[in-house]
Amino acid sequence: MSVKVTKQEALDYHKSPNPGKVAIATTTELETQRDLSLAYSPGVAFPCEEIKKDPKLAYEYTAKSNLVAVVSNGTAVLGLGDIGALASKPVMEGKAVLFKKFAAVDSFDIEVDATDVDKFCEAVKAISPTFGGINLEDIKAPECFEIEKRLIEELNIPVMHDDQHGTAIITTAALINASEMMNKAVEDMKVVVVGAGASAIACSTMYKELGVKTLIMCDSKGVIHKGRKDLNKYKKDFVVEEALSLEEAFTGADMVLGLSRPGTFTKEHIALMNEEPIVFTLANPTPELFPDEVKEARPKAIVGTGRSDFPNQVNNVLGFPFIFRGALDVKTRKINMTMKMAAAKAIANLARQPLTDELKESFGDLTYGREYIIPIPFDKRLMVEVSSAVANAAVQTGVARVKEFDLEAYRKNLAA
Ligand code: NAP
Ligand code: MG
Repeated sequence: MSVKVTKQEALDYHKSPNPGKVAIATTTELETQRDLSLAYSPGVAFPCEEIKKDPKLAYEYTAKSNLVAVVSNGTAVLGLGDIGALASKPVMEGKAVLFKKFAAVDSFDIEVDATDVDKFCEAVKAISPTFGGINLEDIKAPECFEIEKRLIEELNIPVMHDDQHGTAIITTAALINASEMMNKAVEDMKVVVVGAGASAIACSTMYKELGVKTLIMCDSKGVIHKGRKDLNKYKKDFVVEEALSLEEAFTGADMVLGLSRPGTFTKEHIALMNEEPIVFTLANPTPELFPDEVKEARPKAIVGTGRSDFPNQVNNVLGFPFIFRGALDVKTRKINMTMKMAAAKAIANLARQPLTDELKESFGDLTYGREYIIPIPFDKRLMVEVSSAVANAAVQTGVARVKEFDLEAYRKNLAA
């Protein structure tokens, strides 16, 4: 369901009623002299002293427990590229709105004017005590890999670069369902990934974790193979033995995942694939290849894009709000692969459930099938399903600080 908006409408939306899209709300009363003494001096000194003695208590006496930082340096913003920290602010504010509206997670957008990995990490580390989690956003590859790795190692709160893992989780959910529809185990699939940047590397890592054995990755210079001397260490993890051409890579392939830019493959490439291929063309806003072109070559293809005006939209908002919701609620130290896989499976599973009446009214009677392999972002059941799966996986893998965890009670709580 796509709604076209004009530039002027978008600018007006951002300008009024107040500049920007977010504001701070207070949660306690501040009406009387007594309230003032509690909220600020002298009363405020007591929680300060308690937290000094036991840092865990910050989760009880401050907003840390429900607060995520959305941090960017503006080096890879949407399809706009390196537009700098300040110009990325509307996107980061937008992310804060989605966190709040979809999963009741509070967040501050933080635009850091630092492209250097050391400087950026230092800045994020320095502000990290404020937050229960860090969502890294729109940071270019390959720096994003090093930044995320370092912050995960050095901080004791969950850190996730959404352009990598959010995308990986949603496309994994889509693959789980599409492979079932094709009646083919992922272990037996030949998968071509076109793109070798932030999102493609993370998706491919997760696909391997899911069980994909044959995966051929391509960047702007072609197939990534052993003989290439120009590969960064992240691409090196995906080398194949032979120096294949793009045509050879596509021949007999069961799936292509495009995370590159428009036009990097054509319907002639699709025509080399299996009869019923899975084709995700996720370059935004213009996909590698439009769904009608894919269908010309392979009418039975299962197609997904990043756009809301075609079926099967791979939209990260299906993931990040609920992943952080679950992570915050059990106070995790990390977001590990088990948690990410649990999220992907929960998303995949929700698409198999019939739509609620409320959703049917707005979106028609979508039923699980080729044109509906992943849920729509407005499906309110996402919070219960995804957040509980993530929280439970965190507890099971020992990265949660919460020790007493009752899954059923938590699910009821989320549904309330
Ligand atoms: P990125 O880090 O800049 O990666 C882009 C990759 O595309 C690079 O590896 C680049 O190769 C490769 N590439 C460029 N031209 C190519 C060609 N002719 N053939 C093969 N590969 C080529 O960007 P990203 O963040 O991963 O995002 C990639 C695209 O996916 C963007 O359009 C983004 O908007 C979209 N995306 C969509 C979703 C979604 O729909 N939910 C989520 C994430 C990303 P080199 O390494 O050689 O430069
Ligand atoms: Mg992004």
